[in-house]
Amino acid sequence: MSSSTKILLIYTGGTIGMQKDFETGALKAFNFSKLLQRVPELKLLDCTIETISFDNPIDSSNISPESWVAIAEVIENKYDFFDGFVVLHGSDTMSYSASALSFMLENLTKPVIFTGSQLPIGDLRTDAKENLITAIQIASLQENGQPIITEVGLYFEYKLYRGNRTTKISAEHFNAFTSPNYPFLIESGVHLKVNQELLLPFPEKKALCVHKTFDNNVMIVKMFPGINQKIIKTLLEVPGLRGVVLETFGSGNAPTESWFIELLQKTIQNGIHIINVTQCSGGSVDMGKYETSSQLKQIGVISGKDCTTEAAITKLMHLLGKKCKASDFKNLFETSIRGEMG
Ligand code: ASP
Repeated sequence: MSSSTKILLIYTGGTIGMQKDFETGALKAFNFSKLLQRVPELKLLDCTIETISFDNPIDSSNISPESWVAIAEVIENKYDFFDGFVVLHGSDTMSYSASALSFMLENLTKPVIFTGSQLPIGDLRTDAKENLITAIQIASLQENGQPIITEVGLYFEYKLYRGNRTTKISAEHFNAFTSPNYPFLIESGVHLKVNQELLLPFPEKKALCVHKTFDNNVMIVKMFPGINQKIIKTLLEVPGLRGVVLETFGSGNAPTESWFIELLQKTIQNGIHIINVTQCSGGSVDMGKYETSSQLKQIGVISGKDCTTEAAITKLMHLLGKKCKASDFKNLFETSIRGEMG
């Protein structure tokens, strides 16, 4: 890091930038341009920090593809003027946004680090300061004048993860995220320990390309014993539906009842993509391993491999938005584009 390193902090909302209204006790967003006054420790960092805030900071439950485009456009417009970007975001949907941004930003040669906190920055026991300061330090890491991280990461409670590998696991603990199928990229202890071999390689220098179209005519269906034929048939016949992430059991297994398989087959024949991800918190889909997934493979269900549900649904919306050829879709989905699957 050097004092010439320039970092842009993008505040979208979330607990990290909130303060208690002492009259009502409710959490509300504070004026982010005053951040450096509120967190004077930031002045000790050996880099230049500028901040930009959403006009109306939002709780991340209100995040939408339009918000992702807004974040991506800030990065696109400021790309040449900063060495790294830190996105402050509510933790509730941070894994979805980090996944979405990873797919949007092609040929990324600079770090984009999402972070947030469980307690507001003004709270006595806040986790916000550590998350914010270390996320900025990570975004500033350089070697021979080149950024070390050239991907979308998520920093929380001493770990930097690949953003599109994460999932939120706790509404209580400071350790709120995990990356079930990919090791953390950096650990923060006395030193920052970078696991260099796990990072995405520096892209061949092509201009940053920002993909801004998502198709949200999609849904997530979580399997459970007793799933009802009438209900699932109605869901799969919703007009305009283009893709489904099916959260199955274990390594991608589902009931073998003929009504279910025939319904999925008809859906696929109608041009609707069905992605198989596991509802387990770790491991991969392996269609054909059990009899209960062989037919899914035969009828053309797409394997989400070891993708999280967050990465699968955002990748589905992204690829549908790109309007790629239907015959290429399965192949495209099953190929890792930003390290989101093994
Ligand atoms: N509800 C908040 C949000 O996701 C929680 C947080 O900031 O961590 O915006």
